[in-house]
Amino acid sequence: MSQTFRVGLGTDLHRLVEPGPLILGNITIPFEKHALGHSDADALIHAIIDAILGASGGGDIGQVFPDTDEANRGRDSGDMLKVVWDRVRAQGWAMGNLDCVVHLQRPKLAPHIPRMVDRLSQLISVPPETINIKAKTGEGIGLVGREEAVAAECVVLLVSETNSPRC
Ligand code: MG
Repeated sequence: MSQTFRVGLGTDLHRLVEPGPLILGNITIPFEKHALGHSDADALIHAIIDAILGASGGGDIGQVFPDTDEANRGRDSGDMLKVVWDRVRAQGWAMGNLDCVVHLQRPKLAPHIPRMVDRLSQLISVPPETINIKAKTGEGIGLVGREEAVAAECVVLLVSETNSPRC
């Protein structure tokens, strides 16, 4: 039986406004600003969802969870990720790996990354070593550097052990 591989890319950006805290990677990070959005505005999870949908040919997060739907207001993005991952897994896909970059000027994310990786691995039931998260500042310039936004990028590799995964 041959393996099939698909790569997917996801990006997201949300405005930062007072007050805190900040939700990122489905954990709560003490900070004086939060990300503004229709759901809980978790930019990292949204980028991951779009990468998974992209790899599986499933469209994008706005099609699956429209921001015109009141059911999605303030919604836990971890719940959205579980819904998408269950759907993609049912199509025959397994996780190869996730690699993510978060762009945030402050606070420093390094102390929080192990907990974010653990949380993500629990949400989608994959080993933590298949998930990598990196953090970058905005070097004090641009939307990220001026602390006006948080952004995230993610690539995912999905693997299918079946001969004809349903995309
Ligand atoms: Mg978003």
